[in-house]
Amino acid sequence: MRIVKSVQSLRSSIKKYKDQNKTIGFVPTMGALHEGHLALIRKSRRENDIVIISVFVNPKQFGPKEDFNSYSRPEKKDILLAKNEKVDIIFYPSEKEMYPTGFLTSINVEGITDVLCGASRPGHFQGVTTVVGKLINIVTPDVMYLGQKDAQQTIVLKRMTADLNFPVTVKICPTVREADGLAMSSRNRHLTARQRETATVLYKSLKNAKKRILAGERSSARIIRSMRAEIEKNSPGKIDYIACVNADSLTPIKQLKGKVTITLAVKFGRTRLIDNTIFRI
Ligand code: AMP
Repeated sequence: MRIVKSVQSLRSSIKKYKDQNKTIGFVPTMGALHEGHLALIRKSRRENDIVIISVFVNPKQFGPKEDFNSYSRPEKKDILLAKNEKVDIIFYPSEKEMYPTGFLTSINVEGITDVLCGASRPGHFQGVTTVVGKLINIVTPDVMYLGQKDAQQTIVLKRMTADLNFPVTVKICPTVREADGLAMSSRNRHLTARQRETATVLYKSLKNAKKRILAGERSSARIIRSMRAEIEKNSPGKIDYIACVNADSLTPIKQLKGKVTITLAVKFGRTRLIDNTIFRI
């Protein structure tokens, strides 16, 4: 495995792969790799000749009061984990490499970035689309692998690649969970023991909601009310949002039907956790 820090050197390796007609699978990450990331990497490994991952904690997707500085950066461990998965190249750019002096451009996907996580994290998705747009242009992958855990991000990035004609296939992989159901996240390590223990209520509430809907409940308001009560009763978490939305457009649904995403964001102290479930009625 090669650790590459500059765009120029990455591009020259990629040119060689392309000259040999090799397919490239790409997994963008912010590091602090866990089994969720590794599942994406393994799928990419199975499906492509070459696997490239990026590790870049992107300052543009963090708000001024968010956890950019405290975000975990276990560089040595990440390199070891990537090596074990037979990653070909880990792209590890500096901030200066990604945003050199004079950088002025951004990518903005409209509308769907203003709701849910976008409503509480203004500018977040513009940061995400800008960095992933750049990474796609640098890596020129055949396939990019994303996790379902970040449901809104998958919709936004699919929209961006379609709207801007990026020649890449976007594949979404299921959320990988801890044994007790908590969605794996680089942020889980910041939870206190009590927060960690009670955070399991998030997935439980999603599962209970899905069960009730499949049993016939169609009122999104009633579902959200009962999820809210369950989370508030069983954890110290402060709910940012709970929403039932159309899985493709992210528009809220009152009467549940079609392809539905139930999605939530809850803060445990300063740690903001997200989770979702998608199903068809
Ligand atoms: P991050 O490093 O958090 O920016 O995540 C990088 C990629 O890994 C994104 O596509 C995430 O959706 C995905 N990912 C993060 N956590 C999980 C998980 N628990 N299961 C599946 N994919 C995940």
